[in-house]
Amino acid sequence: MVTENYMTIEFPAIPENVEFARTVVACFASQISSFTLEEIDDIKLVVSEAVSNTVLHSYDTPGGIIRLTAARNGDTLYVTVEDFGKGITEIEKAKEPAFTTDPDRMGMGFTIMEALSDELHVTSVPGKGVKVEIRKSPHGTAKASEELQC
Ligand code: ATP
Ligand code: MG
Repeated sequence: MVTENYMTIEFPAIPENVEFARTVVACFASQISSFTLEEIDDIKLVVSEAVSNTVLHSYDTPGGIIRLTAARNGDTLYVTVEDFGKGITEIEKAKEPAFTTDPDRMGMGFTIMEALSDELHVTSVPGKGVKVEIRKSPHGTAKASEELQC
């Protein structure tokens, strides 16, 4: 696979970085000019859900790291959100709609991420962290990048 552009950033798993992460990825994704603004919004929501999960679920103490990558190959966008926290023991169960380990939450994050991505892949080593890999391509030929303000 030839990657035409890519980026990697790390930041702490704190709530204010959810907005930061989704904005960074939206700007990167806007280089793929045939994404519609709606598709960019979908990407933002997927990144929000993945980063929120890390903020909420992965670390027992503050200061844990989130590693965010984005890469472009042609018109295909690849995003990964990785943490090094407690991990998930039963990934298929965690991905079920309405499954949550937090009674205050809806358990819909993975369902939303799956619906809005072309492909979502979750891997985890319990005790070592979680990696969420997302792939998405434009479905039409509209041009969003000129309208998106970064
Ligand atoms: P919602 O996303 O609707 O606010 P939720 O976060 O509980 O609720 P999902 O995003 O679908 O729902 O995640 C399901 C469950 O998977 C979580 O309740 C949590 O137990 C586990 N989980 C998800 N991401 C992580 C992570 N990065 N580290 C550890 N556990 C995780
Ligand atoms: Mg969630």
